[in-house]
Amino acid sequence: MKRRSTRLIHPDTPRPKDHGAVKTPIYASSTYLFESAEAGAATFAMQQGRPHYHEPAPYNYARLGHPNLETVEAQLLAIEGGEQGVHDALAFESGMAAITTSLLSLLKPGSVLVTTTPLYGGTRQFIRDFLEPWGIRTYGLQPSSTAEQVLKDLDGAVPALLYVETPANPTNQIWAWDHLNALKNAWSSTGQRVLLLADNTYLGPCWQKPLEQGADLSLYSATKSMSGHSDLVCGACVGDATLIRGIRSWRNKLGNTASPFTSWLLSRSLETVELRMEATQRNAQILVPRLREHPGIQRLEYPGSGAMVSIWLQGPEDHTKAWKFLNALSIIQLAVSLGSNESLACHPASTTHSGVDPSERRQHGIDESLVRLSIGIEDPEDLWEDLLKALEAAMEDEVR
Ligand code: PLP
Repeated sequence: MKRRSTRLIHPDTPRPKDHGAVKTPIYASSTYLFESAEAGAATFAMQQGRPHYHEPAPYNYARLGHPNLETVEAQLLAIEGGEQGVHDALAFESGMAAITTSLLSLLKPGSVLVTTTPLYGGTRQFIRDFLEPWGIRTYGLQPSSTAEQVLKDLDGAVPALLYVETPANPTNQIWAWDHLNALKNAWSSTGQRVLLLADNTYLGPCWQKPLEQGADLSLYSATKSMSGHSDLVCGACVGDATLIRGIRSWRNKLGNTASPFTSWLLSRSLETVELRMEATQRNAQILVPRLREHPGIQRLEYPGSGAMVSIWLQGPEDHTKAWKFLNALSIIQLAVSLGSNESLACHPASTTHSGVDPSERRQHGIDESLVRLSIGIEDPEDLWEDLLKALEAAMEDEVR
């Protein structure tokens, strides 16, 4: 099998025949011709898992599949180190589409969902505002939670799914894979299949491979480092081929399949994902030790790899210092999202996590003084000067 970097540039899909194009062109077609009625019927029969007796048409309708989707999904499988036949990949129109479609496919009213804490605000709100009213029981883990304690708290109900973010957005809270696998194995020993799903957006596909760590599925807001240029919203789900088959069927019904243009843009970005992520990590590793030394920073969390840095500013327990810091930045852009070529900074408590209950935010360390930094590929000395200037602005009152 070709190695990962080669598979990203030369995905395991047939090269398009059109005019000898080196890249898959954008197939802006909503529907596809059948060479015969038999071929059309065979395609639909195959999708519905019914027997078919003719060669199926390769595509029938773009919500269900198209050449750009096939190309990008082969790259998604490659970046995750997935094996054809064992694993499969799906591309969606957003990260939330990947997450919600996967959870809807795997849970049903009455199921128990256990999650790490904190979670990305949008995911937390989907669980609270949709899954819970829909009849899903949910449970948020503490770092010290044991399998027995969780079962006791759930009155013996066995979780169907363990959903994790490690590192967590926005605090960089780490959950050890050994701990997560031990929970999954202990609950599985009751005889119920327990699935482990990981949202790997924060660290990204180069620095952590959830499937190798024991996860059944790896989920992404591909809007972030996979795209990397802040010009696209999309999502991905990669993992166990049987689970993916079920999720694909839900994607067909919910209708959030990545479009030809979205797939093409993501495919173009994935060719350089390793190069871009190495550059952002290099910059983060230059800046983190300097930030740690700065008296304006009370706490810093960085997992040692990747480009996401969480800083808690010194000072009163309100947003004043954080907002002063953000307003004084000029090269680092004040915007949500992450994993881009340009560095970004945001105040999670009032933006990405503003929809989470304030008491829950505080419990999980999403304080008013927290700033989330996503380090880009600019010159690190320019970034450092910008950070220093903003830290001085935030500390101004104390200096006077
Ligand atoms: N998961 C994480 C960790 C995120 O940070 C985000 C977005 O910020 C999402 C999921 C949702 O992805 P999207 O905005 O592409 O729908």
